[in-house]
Amino acid sequence: MPCPRLSTCKLANGISMREALRVWQSFYCDGMYARCERYKLAESGRDVPLRLLPNGRLQDPPSAPEPADKRRPTGT
Ligand code: SF4
Repeated sequence: MPCPRLSTCKLANGISMREALRVWQSFYCDGMYARCERYKLAESGRDVPLRLLPNGRLQDPPSAPEPADKRRPTGT
């Protein structure tokens, strides 16, 4: 049975890689949702951090963009 929170969960918003998202979904969202830390938090009425993964770890924040001067071509 799929997770009852599937339609409102923002897991996909915090994961940019489609393949990685599919792995999380196939393990947790499509069956083992009772073990999902996002599910447990939501069920207890607490806020679910966007970067929280179903296994309880926080996804690394996106890397900061390089300063503008490092993006200029060199040698010109
Ligand atoms: S990440 Fe967790 S709470 Fe969100 S849909 Fe999947 S199992 Fe449910």
